[in-house]
Amino acid sequence: MESRSITVLGATGSIGLSTLDVVRRHPDRFSVYALTASTRAEELATLCREFHPKVAVMADAAAAKRLTELLSDLPDISVLSGEAGLCEAASAPSACTVMAAIVGAAGLAPTLAAVRASKRVLLANKEALVMSGQLFMDAVSASGAELLPIDSEHNAIFQCLPADKIRDPEGAGITRILLTASGGPFRQHSAEDLRSVTPAQACAHPNWSMGQKISVDSATLMNKGLELIEACWLFNTTPESIEVHVHPESIIHSMVEYADGSVLAQLGSPDMRTPIANGLAWPERIDAGVAPLDLFSIGRFHFERPDLLRFPCLRLAAEAFQLGGTAPAVLNAANEVAVGEFLKGNLAFTDIPVVIERTLAATPVVPADSFDTIFAKNSEARQRAREQIGLLTV
Ligand code: NAD
Ligand code: MG
Repeated sequence: MESRSITVLGATGSIGLSTLDVVRRHPDRFSVYALTASTRAEELATLCREFHPKVAVMADAAAAKRLTELLSDLPDISVLSGEAGLCEAASAPSACTVMAAIVGAAGLAPTLAAVRASKRVLLANKEALVMSGQLFMDAVSASGAELLPIDSEHNAIFQCLPADKIRDPEGAGITRILLTASGGPFRQHSAEDLRSVTPAQACAHPNWSMGQKISVDSATLMNKGLELIEACWLFNTTPESIEVHVHPESIIHSMVEYADGSVLAQLGSPDMRTPIANGLAWPERIDAGVAPLDLFSIGRFHFERPDLLRFPCLRLAAEAFQLGGTAPAVLNAANEVAVGEFLKGNLAFTDIPVVIERTLAATPVVPADSFDTIFAKNSEARQRAREQIGLLTV
């Protein structure tokens, strides 16, 4: 068997570490070409000592200097820095698979570099696709990159679709995609109680252990909004054909309904190593270290409709997709800024959607005609979101 050489973008994060855990179980199958992180040089150094990559990248120049010092006894590992270094690790000829697991808009340039270099791209970084939509999918078609979804819902849908009709819902006879959502930690909170929830409460997800940003997104339902947009692009469909089902057990990871009435589902323990292993080894199946599903102990499954009044972020995402052009990039940028301020204790949880809605209203939508336009709108929307937060807190 040929060993696959992997670049892990965002190696120190929740998805990055889960990826390396699967890799660790299959030393004959996978080797690590490059590992990247933002600022945590000590953590990346520890991973470098275990996985011996050829390249290690820190997004931050000072952190790269620190990593070079920490790895001074391992001169074979070249340490790079900044966006150029991330893009180099993502597109190097020696890597055949790239795990795109940087959080947020910062992941777009390196993920795109991997796409343009025709890699197998394991897409966890949903924000990259949400921001650039059609441009991103066009880049995938142009290069022939193999784009495999890692987000658990999208990986589930992918597994429930015929492999030759992933982007042909009509040809596959699909009538609906049932996108499941856990509902997050505040599913049963009243609108009043939501006003005073804290970052620690928002990050304590009932079923999944994840990075802080996606944990807050799960609590606001913006995560489901981003995933709705992500599903439209990945599976060439529209929000009208996707129905969000709140399923608090997080065992069914999503479903696909067909014209004959069949509904196919993918089930599993809520552990990201399952979709990660699926993407790494596809079309083969490998051990992911995940505990077998015990349906007897779970007992029951529940389903509810999402409450768009308490959780307006899902509505805002659907509206941004319908607006098209640069609107999803603005939605994403405003959300990243608002979530960042909420995590710092500077913004109320219920003001996250307020900031996003006002930023969308204040930022003109233009056609998404190039990646430069997307990057420029991302910066503009961040600035406008900060202005909106300033207006709220005076
Ligand atoms: P995380 O915060 O745990 O990790 C993020 C990683 O990105 C870290 O390695 C960090 O060093 C790196 N990073 C952060 N900012 C960076 C920057 N500016 N430049 C370069 N690197 C940077 O996040 P996570 O939970 O692992 O999520 C990663 C991505 O995967 C997100 O897009 C998220 O939506 C998606 N995702 C995560 C899960 C999950 O279970 N955690 C599930 C589905 C999708
Ligand atoms: Mg998901």
